Amino acid sequence: MASARRDRLYRTEAIILRRQDFGEADKLLTLYTTGLGKTRVLAKGVRKPKSRKSGHVELFTHSDLLIAKGKSLDIVTQAETIHSFLPMRSELLRTSYAYYAAELLDRFTAEGEENRPLFDLLLDTLFRLGDSEDPDLVLRYFELRLLGYVGYRPQLFQCVRCARAIEMKTGFFSPKDGGLLCLTCGEGERDCQETSPRALATLRYVQVRDFPHCRRLKVDRPTHEELENLMRRYITYLLERRLKSVDFIDALRREDTGATTPALGER
Ligand SMILES: [Zn+2]
Repeated sequence: MASARRDRLYRTEAIILRRQDFGEADKLLTLYTTGLGKTRVLAKGVRKPKSRKSGHVELFTHSDLLIAKGKSLDIVTQAETIHSFLPMRSELLRTSYAYYAAELLDRFTAEGEENRPLFDLLLDTLFRLGDSEDPDLVLRYFELRLLGYVGYRPQLFQCVRCARAIEMKTGFFSPKDGGLLCLTCGEGERDCQETSPRALATLRYVQVRDFPHCRRLKVDRPTHEELENLMRRYITYLLERRLKSVDFIDALRREDTGATTPALGER
């Protein structure tokens, strides 16, 4: 992107990962772009009711942007929606999963590092969250691919300590070791989670097969809960923090019990 950097204007495809209020009427946008990876830009005046740009820079929108180089921050001069992912937005739980995917990608990437596979993964995931019967499976697929792209692919086929192949149908998942321990190495280890045969088989399948294969899997609720718990523990360990969207998803699921849900807002 050397030539684009010298120009005053550049055009890029972007997905809006995050929006924060800035000044009186502006928004600071965190974008994931095709050519520049993650970057932050200013969208001026988009909090004014008459703004023509505002609809094209909503959270999670895939847009075509024309951006002007600024002294400190670059500025969006034109914006046009390519995809708005309406099916994903039609259901709050699915929207909250998009929020999680965007937050995860934001946390695991640094600004200015191009990663086209990661952009395509996020784009595909936003579509899948709208049309897949099993949005939990969509998220597990997203997490496993993302972790692979950023260098934290969990080892699921051999013991991370003794390197023996794990033929057994169970093992212990160790977040700090980044993968499975065999039954011998994992016995009595703290902070490990024993995996059920079904959860381990699902995780391995999703790690190595492409999405058209994975989407045919039928995963039952207890297995989904186990997998979600396992991935959350691993990701929390890697990031040294819990994601905000995780609390939001949990609150949404508790709604039936009368608990109040925080607003799905800017973060
Ligand atoms: Zn071992």
